[in-house]
Amino acid sequence: MSKTRVTVAHGDGIGPEIMDATLRILDAAGADLEYDTIDIGEKVYLSGLTAGISPDSWDILRQNKVFLKAPITTPQGGGYKSLNVTVRKTLGLYANVRPCQAYVPFVHSHFPEMDLVIVRENEEDLYAGIEHRQTDEVYQCLKLVSRPGCEKIIRYAFEYAKQYGRKKVTCMSKDNIMKLTDGLFHEVFDEVKTEYPEIEADHYIIDIGSARLADTPERFDVIVTLNLYGDIISDIAAQISGSVGLGGSSNVGQGFAMFEAIHGSAPDIAGQDIANPSGLINGANLMLLHLGKGQIAAKIHNALMATLEEGIHTGDIWDSETSKKKVGTKEFADAVIRNLGKEPLKLKKADFPASSDPIEINLKTPKKQVKQLIGVDAFIDWDSDDRDPEVLGRLLQQASKGNLIIKMITNRGVKVWPDGMPETFKTDHWRCRFWHKTNKKGQIEGLATVSNKDVIELLSSIETEGLDVVKTENLYTFDGKLGYSLGQGE
Ligand code: NAD
Repeated sequence: MSKTRVTVAHGDGIGPEIMDATLRILDAAGADLEYDTIDIGEKVYLSGLTAGISPDSWDILRQNKVFLKAPITTPQGGGYKSLNVTVRKTLGLYANVRPCQAYVPFVHSHFPEMDLVIVRENEEDLYAGIEHRQTDEVYQCLKLVSRPGCEKIIRYAFEYAKQYGRKKVTCMSKDNIMKLTDGLFHEVFDEVKTEYPEIEADHYIIDIGSARLADTPERFDVIVTLNLYGDIISDIAAQISGSVGLGGSSNVGQGFAMFEAIHGSAPDIAGQDIANPSGLINGANLMLLHLGKGQIAAKIHNALMATLEEGIHTGDIWDSETSKKKVGTKEFADAVIRNLGKEPLKLKKADFPASSDPIEINLKTPKKQVKQLIGVDAFIDWDSDDRDPEVLGRLLQQASKGNLIIKMITNRGVKVWPDGMPETFKTDHWRCRFWHKTNKKGQIEGLATVSNKDVIELLSSIETEGLDVVKTENLYTFDGKLGYSLGQGE
């Protein structure tokens, strides 16, 4: 049978040393892989390619579909794009999977029972990178969350739990505040969980969830969450497991996947043969599982655990009580190779499926809903001397000549007109909500609809009042349900 081809990049800093060590272990364990090497990182950035990767490398990545990547150094200063973000987005790697396990007593952690996996949505949320400055004082970043995006990652978390014998999936979101975006994530979680009755499912608001994670991580098994929260809690989880230097992660999409260590290129110790290769070894193990080579992954995992148990440690995890021999990168890899076939005595033995197919997700597209335009939010840059909302309210009443009339003005989400509080802090950025003149205060049922032509007429008459509209957001209902949030105090 032909060997499986994977793309490898040796990266920067300690990258080449830990990649050499990892590939030696993979070969010695019988992983049966062939490697196509590509250049990425500092050298490529400094050659003038701001993405840190050359066009030829994309062809190899596309062809092999599986990418084992050593850390890279991102040069300081503007203009360089994060290679990780570029690869994730280009190849549609929607799931970032980060197992966080404690190796107590061989690696210090307060949480010896900790053994969890964070499944982070990787493409959406605030990471779309759509930001605008709208007024002298106010900047915005768009948080985009889609139903297929939520469904893909949530199904992935449940399928992952099923494949790896995990018992529980916990969703974390902030849907008490972001009722539409995070609310959608929670709603889809509640829908999907019913298809996995054998797996326990619960939900935490992200703030208390993070607090519990930092306090009693052993209560969690698989955590699924949105991009930003996942970014933060996966670092917290890795740190408290004691294994930042030992953690691996995968970025998985439909057909493509990238595997790496979670740490960076550690330029401070590069070229000294002292770096710990365990993070990349764990990343490579996730790759083997993805390729259905669970037996080889188990062999390597057990050898790595046995090496840690023997007290053969690199400097970063050296501990006078449990360490016996301080070794460098090469010697550590030699010890792991020598231990292939051994099992750990105290640390957890690998419990991976011997072979498995990559997780594929099939989305269930719900039927399209009826969308109706019922109003518009016009965001206005307005900076009078005393920023009195009564003055702005009067100007907008004068502008309300067609079907759309001013209903409410908020400043940073808080209602300031009509009947605002004088204490509310006001910036130069005003959200002015307009809806059909026949709609009544407090009405939600049976709202009258408007057209985009009404919106254009309104904008023109706001302009006539000498006001500067910096953007608009249309207000829709979907199957009669409001597709926008109410202002605080509305
Ligand atoms: P880092 O993770 O490279 O290093 C932080 C500290 O941990 C350093 O003291 C380092 O010596 C130590 N360390 C890290 N890995 C180690 C290992 N395997 N063995 C022993 N000690 C280890 O983080 P940083 O210093 O903030 O970043 C350095 C560079 O790495 C930056 O250019 C950053 O942009 C890049 N980076 C890349 C990735 C990636 O490619 N995925 C991730 C994070 C940071």
